[in-house]
Amino acid sequence: MAKQLPEENISEQHDVVIVGGGPVGLFLGLNLAQKGLDTVVLEAEADINQSPRALMYFPIVLNEFEKFGILDEVVRAGYKNQEGLCFRTTASGSNKVLASIPPGKASQGSIDYGVQLGQPRLAEILRRHAQKYPSFSLQYNTRFVGLEEEHDAVRLETSTPDGKTKYFSARFVVGCDGASSPVRKALGIPFEGYTWHDWRFLAINLRYDFTKYGYPAANHVLDPEDWAVIVRASNVEEGLWRIATGISPDIPVEEIEKHIPAKLERLLPGPRPLQYELVAVNPYWAHERVAKTYRSGRVILCGDAAHVNNPLTALGLTTGLVDVAVLSRLLPQAFTPQHASSWPRLLDKYSTLRRNDFVNQVQKLCLDGKLRLHSTDPKVVAAREDFFNMLNKNPGFGDFVAGTMVEKLPDDLDPSLA
Ligand SMILES: Cc1cc2nc3c(=O)[nH]c(=O)nc-3n(C[C@H](O)[C@H](O)[C@H](O)COP(=O)(O)OP(=O)(O)OC[C@H]3O[C@@H](n4cnc5c(N)ncnc54)[C@H](O)[C@@H]3O)c2cc1C
Repeated sequence: MAKQLPEENISEQHDVVIVGGGPVGLFLGLNLAQKGLDTVVLEAEADINQSPRALMYFPIVLNEFEKFGILDEVVRAGYKNQEGLCFRTTASGSNKVLASIPPGKASQGSIDYGVQLGQPRLAEILRRHAQKYPSFSLQYNTRFVGLEEEHDAVRLETSTPDGKTKYFSARFVVGCDGASSPVRKALGIPFEGYTWHDWRFLAINLRYDFTKYGYPAANHVLDPEDWAVIVRASNVEEGLWRIATGISPDIPVEEIEKHIPAKLERLLPGPRPLQYELVAVNPYWAHERVAKTYRSGRVILCGDAAHVNNPLTALGLTTGLVDVAVLSRLLPQAFTPQHASSWPRLLDKYSTLRRNDFVNQVQKLCLDGKLRLHSTDPKVVAAREDFFNMLNKNPGFGDFVAGTMVEKLPDDLDPSLA
């Protein structure tokens, strides 16, 4: 729970303190600093986390990047997917395309493509652009330890690796500190849901020419054992691909690496012996969890601190970046005289809108997406066959599914609806 901090020693005061310098914290910092709020991002580690994690960004997020003039850079650094998504069987099985979702059709002037780019590269772009604003600052090696809410501010305690304590004060604090969010824990907000124990997930980055064997930029491979998502993870020049797949949870983590060649033998198309460059392997557990509320007093949760899902539908980071887009339309209004006493409604609106979206849409899409890949449950198999039949027989259905991916957020969110 929130702790009692000493009165003295507030060394820095800001409009907003963001805890966590991952992509969500950096994008929020960029948004708020651009709107003139004095914003500091506090990050526990010494730099951006470089491990292979999220990499897919849908038009709803790209539209937001465009507003900050960073879209071109993101597109150049990554792969512009105008090919849609392909469902197929494994290379070692029948190696057959089952169905495809075509690229989305957006209204005139809107973005109708996705971008595939490693999360660390995106974070670097966001950081560089945020640092152009004088009202933005970023402090690495600064770990959030605790907080205390006062009448009109929140006080925070942080620590540095050399054991120094530093205190901050802000009108509002946003926890963008990831799935195990110390901010969420300090507030005592439950993180409801479950962890998947049927598979240990693997994020594998490698260089291999899938294109040569007819694979488009995004593929869902269906198989009870060797299910996978195979996608481009960089621009063509860098030639990086990602395989998101699973391995038995009974295999100890230190033995995973020796199972990778056999896994790739079953998943990679093309002649043998296979010639690939393995770049990174990241094993992890996936979860479906959501915070009971995204706000407590003057403290707000955003990104993985508020919600986590399995990565197979690529909605984890996208959902966090949409949280930022909504919060940065509402939070600056809390600083205006008009909302001097009604700011809680603005923040409740953020919490309700974003939590409902996660629970009613994102969670369902993620669950369906995972089961579609590997489940042998007759109900799931029947639903999957219906889905593929619709895609194959009715082009209008494919366009409809693709159309749901090119939606755009409205510029104004009316606080009176809170
Ligand atoms: C292996 C793996 C693969 C994934 N693959 C995908 C994918 O394919 N597609 C997808 O959409 N999503 C994927 N995800 C999820 C995606 O990475 C997250 O949704 C994304 O990182 C969320 O960003 P964030 O900024 O909210 O949190 P994070 O990226 O976790 O950033 C949180 C930051 O807070 C910092 N922090 C933590 N505690 C403190 C503290 N006490 N004080 C200060 N700072 C602190 C951390 O150091 C970190 O930098 C994957 C995740 C993992 C782990």
